[in-house]
Amino acid sequence: MAEMKVEPGGNIIDIKHVSKWFGDKQVLDDVSLHIRKGEFVTILGPSGCGKTTLLRILSGFDTASEGEILLEGSDITQTPPHQRPMNTVFQRYALFPHLNVYDNIAFGLKLKKEKDNIIENKVRRALKMVGMTDYEHRDVNSLSGGQQQRVAIARAIVNQPQVLLLDEPLAALDLKMRKDMQMELKEMHKTLGITFIYVTHDQEEALTLSDRIVVMSEGVIQQIGTPTDIYNEPENCFVADFIGESNILNGTMIEDRLVRFMDTEFKCVDEGFGANAPVDVVIRPEDIYIIAKTDTANAMLHGRVSSCIFKGVHYEMIVQLANGYELMVQDYNAFEPETEVSLIIKPADIHVMKKERTCNTFDATIVDETHIELLGTTFECLPHSFDKGAQVKVEVDFDKIDLTDDKEDGALEGDVRLILYKGNHYHLTIVTDDDDYLYVDTNDVWDDGDMVGINIMPEDIRIIKN
Ligand code: ATP
Repeated sequence: MAEMKVEPGGNIIDIKHVSKWFGDKQVLDDVSLHIRKGEFVTILGPSGCGKTTLLRILSGFDTASEGEILLEGSDITQTPPHQRPMNTVFQRYALFPHLNVYDNIAFGLKLKKEKDNIIENKVRRALKMVGMTDYEHRDVNSLSGGQQQRVAIARAIVNQPQVLLLDEPLAALDLKMRKDMQMELKEMHKTLGITFIYVTHDQEEALTLSDRIVVMSEGVIQQIGTPTDIYNEPENCFVADFIGESNILNGTMIEDRLVRFMDTEFKCVDEGFGANAPVDVVIRPEDIYIIAKTDTANAMLHGRVSSCIFKGVHYEMIVQLANGYELMVQDYNAFEPETEVSLIIKPADIHVMKKERTCNTFDATIVDETHIELLGTTFECLPHSFDKGAQVKVEVDFDKIDLTDDKEDGALEGDVRLILYKGNHYHLTIVTDDDDYLYVDTNDVWDDGDMVGINIMPEDIRIIKN
């Protein structure tokens, strides 16, 4: 295998503006990512967000529709998999059932017609690396899931790849085995000194293992950062919600270091949002202090505990505030349901994020005086003065989109993709059959994946000039 010429700490892989379509479905949207030599990078996101597709494009089993992949500065976008100094470990171990452990690991080397003594050395070294010395003559079917995955890893590292790609390699293992293997993978990464690119939907696994995490949703990178950055400074609601538990609330930044949410003004440490800027506020449940009800000025929030669950180390409580909002609080002390409590939130524990949008905005075409086409459908609108055929923009408030159970009852159909609880209502992302996105505020409870009908009343369609 060719020697790498990258300086320590330099980029081994540059993913530049990669997009991928399967037919007319876009699965990756302008993904750019630089991976440093020797890093443990995890691509984290919910099922279907495009993680595996990105890994397959890196390995060469799939090709990008747009963009390029560079390996130490050389374009490998079109290079076939076997010419890339990378190997992949899959979720299902994909071992050959008719070969023993040794022959499974030696398979690729034998194909390459390596000398027997070299093969033997390499196989033994790989087995040692995964803690499976003395297992070489074992039938792979007699191994536990964890042991089979170790053999699969040994097979992937036997040829000393520069980059190891791991696609949810621990997903099929039980919790205890998964935890043990996580530690072993981290050790292996250190010992091997090669670059690991790891795909998972398990945020805890990502936080435990990675030097850097790439959070993805719907084919788009949402944030790249160290585990601490991602946890402590989420860049948007998606990241805050996906990593750990969060209270996510609508707010208004009144001025520097003063934010209003849950009908209350709080001092915070954020600056530079401008006056009266709409923001999202994130507060981690472990950052909220819960105490027996008190009237001190420090405790600005008062409420009643509605549930209290023991989570192994801490208690997780839902507190129903007097002003109608609900907050999740974690504490080492239990406050039983019905207890009257006060809450304290310190300025540094209030994370303020710019809102990505404050209403739905669509491109639209005027059909006639009372009809408008948007989202591929004609909607009735209030009379207006725009010319027929005019290209306009339409705004619809989040709480003005009606969802129905029966998708046939809607002017449009879509499915619920992402649900954020915002303290007193749900904020949903709906994706239509044509892959258009709508954002809806509702008090109704929907589940991820629910098919819904979508309606917009004429008076809620705000037409503005393009
Ligand atoms: P999971 O964790 O469930 O594997 P993922 O984040 O790895 O999810 P991908 O496997 O990359 O997601 O898939 C992203 C989207 O692309 C999904 O909607 C999937 O159905 C679609 N997809 C993947 N491969 C193909 C293909 N060969 N043809 C058509 N669509 C595909």
